[in-house]
Amino acid sequence: MSTDTPLIKFLDRNTPQICAEEVRAAARVHFGLAGTFKELLSERDQNFDIRDENGDRHVMRIANIDEEFTVIDFQVRALLHISQQDPSLPVPKIKPNTRGEELSKIRFGDGQEHLVHVLTYLHGQPLRDVDEFAVETYRNLGAMTARLDLALRGFFHPAADQVHPWNLEKCARFAEHVNHLKSPEARKIVSAVFDNFEQNVLPRVRKLRHQVIHQDAHGGNVLVDPKNPVNITGLIDFGDMLYGSLAAEIAVATDSAEVKTDSLPDIVCETAAGFDSVLPLEAEEIDLLFDMIVIRNALSATITASRATLSSDQPEFMESPDLYVDTIEALLSIGRNEITRRVRNACRFPAFCPSSADDAYSESRENELIEARHRLLGEKTKHFYEKPQHFERARGPFLYGTDGRRYLDCYNNVPQVGHCNPHVVKAIARQAEALNTNTRYMYSSVIEYAERLTAKLAPHLDACVFLNSGSEANDVAWQMAKLITGNDGALIMEDAYHGITEVIREFSPAHPDTVLPSHLKGLVVPDPYRGPYRDDDPDIAVKYADYAARAINELASDGHGLAAFMIDSAFCSSGIPDVPDEYMRAVEKHVRAAGGLMICDEVQSGFGRMGQWWGHEYHSVKADFVTMGKPAANGHPFGVVVTSSDILNEFVEKTSFFSTFGGNTVSCAAGNAVLDVIERGRLIENGIVVGDYLREQLRELARTQPLIGDVRGHGMLTGLEFVTDRESRAPATKEVFALLELMRQRQVLIGREGGFDNILKLRPALVFERKHVDLMISALDDSLNQL
Ligand code: PMP
Repeated sequence: MSTDTPLIKFLDRNTPQICAEEVRAAARVHFGLAGTFKELLSERDQNFDIRDENGDRHVMRIANIDEEFTVIDFQVRALLHISQQDPSLPVPKIKPNTRGEELSKIRFGDGQEHLVHVLTYLHGQPLRDVDEFAVETYRNLGAMTARLDLALRGFFHPAADQVHPWNLEKCARFAEHVNHLKSPEARKIVSAVFDNFEQNVLPRVRKLRHQVIHQDAHGGNVLVDPKNPVNITGLIDFGDMLYGSLAAEIAVATDSAEVKTDSLPDIVCETAAGFDSVLPLEAEEIDLLFDMIVIRNALSATITASRATLSSDQPEFMESPDLYVDTIEALLSIGRNEITRRVRNACRFPAFCPSSADDAYSESRENELIEARHRLLGEKTKHFYEKPQHFERARGPFLYGTDGRRYLDCYNNVPQVGHCNPHVVKAIARQAEALNTNTRYMYSSVIEYAERLTAKLAPHLDACVFLNSGSEANDVAWQMAKLITGNDGALIMEDAYHGITEVIREFSPAHPDTVLPSHLKGLVVPDPYRGPYRDDDPDIAVKYADYAARAINELASDGHGLAAFMIDSAFCSSGIPDVPDEYMRAVEKHVRAAGGLMICDEVQSGFGRMGQWWGHEYHSVKADFVTMGKPAANGHPFGVVVTSSDILNEFVEKTSFFSTFGGNTVSCAAGNAVLDVIERGRLIENGIVVGDYLREQLRELARTQPLIGDVRGHGMLTGLEFVTDRESRAPATKEVFALLELMRQRQVLIGREGGFDNILKLRPALVFERKHVDLMISALDDSLNQL
């Protein structure tokens, strides 16, 4: 059949009219079949149900004379392929003729040579005729069509490209037939569907996974057990197979002609979930499903109406198009977002995230979620911004809002190698699929990870303890330090943040209302911009370090020997000050002299944040413990303490330490993948270049924006301090508060920090590029102008 065949030919039936006697003779001679013959209803062919004396049944199909050999050959080859790939699938099997051929050419009394093939008969009742069905039937149907498509995955045939009236992707050809619909209202609705599909949906559908699909699993072709309609006993009619998208398979299987529209959303969900359980769907397939179901119904309405005009003499084919039009209306009134949300949920896909403002979540939906969040997570649970920003998707340096807008993430240092980095995501998924267990067993990923991590640290840091968060890592490092030194005193920064466990909360005076217990001493922050000693003081490092010496003495007089100095090398909660050179080394000297150890908290500064692998190396100090968290697994919960094997062995021996999830196979897969991405992408080097560019641009901006008081930082860690007066350095707290909101309106996310909350901390992913810096700078400039 050539591609320019008028479409209407498909609707114009020229059904074979072979007489019963001839059919019987052909069945006997060519197929060795005898028994009772019953003609079946067929649109274009002549089909017979043949039951032999043993009760075995076959269907003999005599093709329409207009049908090309290749079209029937396509069906026959596909069925043979399926029976090889998945023999237990309930689809007909080919019975070859007595010469062993699957497809026969038989000349009948009409003088024409017809193509004939014989199939095994499948028992069951058409799903369409079942009065009461359970939605689970559709889950089974979805699963079965997926199995069928899996069996067909490696199959192709030239006729798969045949011109086909039911091809959703070619439906534009049908637009002109809309005039067969009687009601002007229906014509309007269906035409609008065709237009939308052609313009907005089809370009996306063309990018979906395609293969030969069955494309006809509607209720007339699906057979179920009449006693228990949940069980599907067969799928028949391979005449509409074509090269199409897998998503179209689901759209057709939910064909609504036999379904009450109010159960349609459930049916769509069940069918998709069933399909997904066998052949996992891709997000885009789910997101386009609504439009594919709508277009399928538009096509059904149009074809049904066209047939009604052309075949008014054959009432058995006279179906009403109304139900299809009603279905379209019902679907449109429920809406794309709602159906997509439900289908995603049914398949356990992440929530739908619109790609444009047109599809944005409604205000009432957002308010519902805010209310539920308050109710279920507690009213006081913090979120950024007055009205919480809602995200459901992210990629690289961007987060995507449910308002359909894209936000540049300059705030979050957790996705160190970019949000949802594909390499990390795949590693997590693949490992989760293979094995997820803990360090009580042997497995290679944890060993590989520990080897790679320790190789990046000084030689004495040669052993790892795996945990689930930065807080846990600090907690365990502190336990070890106490055990090894026999002391219980510690130094921290006066506004430090180290985590949430009961012990570590005390190490975190950045928490409001924290009162330091007597065994902890907070040091004055070595801040050359705002602290008591400024950058013009030549002895600044020593003077700040002297606070440590004094604190150690105070601890001693309170009866606490020094166990450790716990320090965030990024000084993040202190507002990322430009810590004087030599300061950390000078403090370390005091610490070691008092018999204390160095716990270097690299939750912020680790994995290349400061332009080299570790922040403590930037400060040139020797760590006894390096604690890690946040960026280690790019968002997957993961904490690590790296220390010496002597310390670790003593600790584990004395405490029988074990963490159920720490170092599990999936976390280690994520950790290894993060290292891959940093190394392969030379991301630390990138961070140095882009971070320098960022600070250069900020300093440039400071020439015209007087609120900018100080720009500082290293690599991809930048502090930006705002003042209302550069002379007095009065903190611009109020202005920074307003600035964050203005930046959000310009789709840039930043956080603030410091005792006066007047410092922006910029910790974008290491995959940031200059163009992202430019976006951020222009939003900042605009926002400052609007203040
Ligand atoms: N240490 C530092 C320096 C941190 O910034 C944080 C978290 N902000 C933590 C520890 C605690 O990490 P987590 O939230 O993973 O427990």
